[in-house]
Amino acid sequence: MMQPIPRIPPTLQVPVFLSPSLIGSWRECRLKLFALHSPDRAALEFLPKGPFAEFGTLAHKAIKAAAGGDRDAVAAFERMIDERQITLAANAASARYADLRAAVGPARMAATRDLVERQLRRLSAPTRTEVPPRRRGREVFLESTVLRLRGSADLIRGGRASAEIVDLKTGNTTDDSGQARPAYALQLQAYALMLLEQEPEVRLQLSLDNGERVVVPSDEEALSAARRRIDAITALLPLGPEFVTTGLATAGSDCYQCPLRPGCAAYRETAPTWWHDVPADVKAPADIWGRIQRIDSRPDGITATLVDASGRGVRIVGLDEQIGISAEREGTELAFFNLEVDAVKPGFQGQRPHTRLFRDGPVRPGQHRAWTLAVFQFEAS
Ligand code: SF4
Repeated sequence: MMQPIPRIPPTLQVPVFLSPSLIGSWRECRLKLFALHSPDRAALEFLPKGPFAEFGTLAHKAIKAAAGGDRDAVAAFERMIDERQITLAANAASARYADLRAAVGPARMAATRDLVERQLRRLSAPTRTEVPPRRRGREVFLESTVLRLRGSADLIRGGRASAEIVDLKTGNTTDDSGQARPAYALQLQAYALMLLEQEPEVRLQLSLDNGERVVVPSDEEALSAARRRIDAITALLPLGPEFVTTGLATAGSDCYQCPLRPGCAAYRETAPTWWHDVPADVKAPADIWGRIQRIDSRPDGITATLVDASGRGVRIVGLDEQIGISAEREGTELAFFNLEVDAVKPGFQGQRPHTRLFRDGPVRPGQHRAWTLAVFQFEAS
C-alpha cells in the first residue's frame, strides 16, 4: 500500500475544452486547472476518490435517470452500486471502501433512494418536442469552440421559446447567505451561454435542484459576468500542443480538494509553512509528513509519532496494519494524505494551527475510517 511519492510530468498536453463543472470551483492554481483538463490525465497519479464521491457519482446518475422518466431508476441505482463495488474491490487503492453501502451508512442510502423516487415524481414530466430533441431532455451535450467549453447539462426542459436548464444535485446548493453557490451558478451559466449560441432567441431559466429548487440568475448582466469570467480563465491557457507544468502551481485555497497533492512540489513546499498558523483563506487538507520517531502497535491499530516538516510533534492513531508501517520505518520520512482529523485546538494567541492529532480508524462511535488515506515514502528513506 505504501509507494514512493509521485511526480507530476514536466509537460502535459494542452486541453482544447474545459468543463463547466470544473471551472466553477476553480480559484487560482493554473496547474490544477490545466492538469485536470489535460488529455494526458492518465499520466497523473490522483488521490483515490473515496466512498462518498463514488456514491455521489452513482446517485447523480440515478437522479438523472429518474428526472428523465426512467421508472426503473431506484433498481438501476442498486445495480450500479453492486457493479461498482466489484470494480472497487479489485483495486488496492479502493478495496478498503469497496462496500459502498456500509461506508456511506444506511441513513444516507435511504435518503438517496428517497431523493431518486422524489425526483422521479417531480421532474419526469415528458418534454415537448418542437425543438431538436438533442437539445431537450436529460444529459444534453453542449459544446462551444468560442468559449472552449464542453459538457453535458443534466436536464433541459421546455420548448422552442423558453427552456429551463436544471443541474441536479444531491447535497446543499446554497451558501451561507441562502444564494446559489457561486461555483454551481457559474456552471449553469456556462451551459446557458452554450445553449444560447445555438438558440439565441430562447428565454432561459436556470435552476439547481436537490429536491428543492434554487433559481440561478440568467439575466443579461449575470450572463455577461459569467462570460467575462470564462474568457479570463481560458485566456490563461493558450492553445498549443503541450504546456510546461513547472511554475504553474499556486498553493492556497485550491489545494483542499486537489487530487494532485502528493505529486505537487509546490504544495509540499508550502503546506508546512501553514501548519503553525493556517492562513484564514486556506482550509488545510488533512495531510501530514515528516520523520517517524516511533511506531507502536496497539489493539486499535498502529500509532505513528513523528516530527512533521514544520518541526511539530504529531501523532497518528488507528493506522491499518495493511498499510505496512512497522518499527522498521522509525527514522524514515513518510507522507500521509487524507487522514481524519481527531482534534483541533486553537493557539494561545488566536492562531489556527493545523491539527497535531490525526487518525485512520474510528476512535469513537459513529466515526468512519480515513477511507482514502494514501501513504507515501520519500525517496531518501
Ligand atoms: S496541490 Fe495545490 S498547488 Fe498543487 S496543483 Fe493542486 S491546487 Fe495547485
